[in-house]
Amino acid sequence: MPQPKASTAASGSKVPPVTPAVKATASRQTSFWVLAAVPVLVFPLLYWVPALWTHWSELVTPVERIWRKPVDDICRLRDSGAIDDLRCEFHALEEVNHQLAPLIRQIAQASFFKYYRVDLYRPCSFWNSDGLCVLRDCEVKPADDSEIPVEWTTAAGENHGANHPIDQVDFAPFGKSYQPFGATCDYQDSDFCVLGDERSANGVYVDLLKNPERFTGYAGPSANSVWEAIYEENCFDVPAHIKALTSSQNVITEFSQFESLQQHRQALLNECKEKRVFYRVISGLHASISTHLCREYFNQTTQEWGPNLDCFMSRVGHFPDRLQNIYFNYALLLRSVFRLSSYFIDREFCTGHKEEDAWLKAKIQELVATCLALPDGFNENELFLDNEAAYLKEEFKDNFRNVTRIMDCVGCEKCRLWGKLQTRGFGTALKVLFSYDEDRLLPTADIHLDRGEVVALVNTLNQFSKSIEAIQQFHQLYHDVHYSSA
Ligand SMILES: Cc1cc2nc3c(=O)[nH]c(=O)nc-3n(C[C@H](O)[C@H](O)[C@H](O)COP(=O)(O)OP(=O)(O)OC[C@H]3O[C@@H](n4cnc5c(N)ncnc54)[C@H](O)[C@@H]3O)c2cc1C
Repeated sequence: MPQPKASTAASGSKVPPVTPAVKATASRQTSFWVLAAVPVLVFPLLYWVPALWTHWSELVTPVERIWRKPVDDICRLRDSGAIDDLRCEFHALEEVNHQLAPLIRQIAQASFFKYYRVDLYRPCSFWNSDGLCVLRDCEVKPADDSEIPVEWTTAAGENHGANHPIDQVDFAPFGKSYQPFGATCDYQDSDFCVLGDERSANGVYVDLLKNPERFTGYAGPSANSVWEAIYEENCFDVPAHIKALTSSQNVITEFSQFESLQQHRQALLNECKEKRVFYRVISGLHASISTHLCREYFNQTTQEWGPNLDCFMSRVGHFPDRLQNIYFNYALLLRSVFRLSSYFIDREFCTGHKEEDAWLKAKIQELVATCLALPDGFNENELFLDNEAAYLKEEFKDNFRNVTRIMDCVGCEKCRLWGKLQTRGFGTALKVLFSYDEDRLLPTADIHLDRGEVVALVNTLNQFSKSIEAIQQFHQLYHDVHYSSA
């Protein structure tokens, strides 16, 4: 008797024989499902792997936190070394700042440097601004008259015209040759900024230490209009070119990938160096302001002041170009102080208090000595060289003067104070770098600097020195939050 085939079930029901046709159908079905599974499995992978990689830092487990090195933009950038358009690296500038910071802080506390005369009520000459906001933290408290050296108040209060005594008091040898600006023109050819606050009838002395640059709550349309006017109308179209040349449409606002730095860098390199420098100065100033407001941030919930890491990362830390520009600006300011080193050595800084004046002079000499030992960073001799140089320099000056004028449109007193001071500080640095030929300006050189310019330059350097310290602190904080084993 023939044995039943293995395909016959125990129950006796018959399984149809597997013919070649059935095999082919089954194989087609399998192929169909395999093919169907490919997009279902692969496409999400294609999406999720990069997405997870992007947010890797948020996903690390406690074990991984112990051994993984931080890969945030600040770290990668600082470790990458070189800074575009400079001859020195991140760590070199941090090293310099480590030496200079205590000295600059001390100098900024001296009466000569802590009192700054400013006109906070000049009308905005570009658009109808809504005036100044009434936010509590925007308020600026002018210094009491009794705090100000009597020579300065007599000078500023009673004589806004020619031969302004302020200049004679502060820089005696140059006071006589100094020609104050006429009523119609508040800058000279050599100036990169519009002056006049020092001599304005509405000018007040402000103690900068009592009115620090920090979070004020100023935001919204008024602040946006100011930044927009600066970037879109006065930055040689550089931001528009960057946007057009990079693949991401929102490169300026959504610049959160380190790799995007390459695109951004390439777009900037397509610009001539002078325009790049202008853009870097503005963007670096903006980033430094953001760093200060995030470092001294007011937490509405706890009602306390302190550093706000999210604020910093979303405005500066995730934007490698902005970080670079802060360091770039620091190097530019240091270079201008270097050029003024001989000039500073022989200057008297008079406040009427002999002891303090002598102490300050010794500190300034120390600052100068440190600046002389600095590595080369910014090189002004590489700019304004070709046939178009003279024309480009005038355009550069005009645009920068406009930026200083736009500060009258800032709708928050404290932001206006620091905006005016720092644009004037950069105006002074640019003037020192580009309006005089000598490599090191001698006291005998025909330099026109008034007290306000010197005070603005030194305080701007101090603000950038603080920004670099803040970047290092935020980096540490970021590391502690994301990678500490706790
Ligand atoms: C002169 C001035 C001084 C100010 N000072 C203070 C202050 O002391 N304290 C305070 O709390 N607020 C200050 N503000 C307000 C502050 O700068 C912001 O405008 C505000 O906090 C709103 O921020 P935001 O997120 O809308 O972006 P904003 O900082 O206003 O930036 C607007 C846009 O500019 C672009 N951008 C931002 N940063 C950079 C950069 N570094 N480089 C290139 N592009 C950039 C981005 O596209 C961003 O969306 C000041 C504003 C101005 C104009």
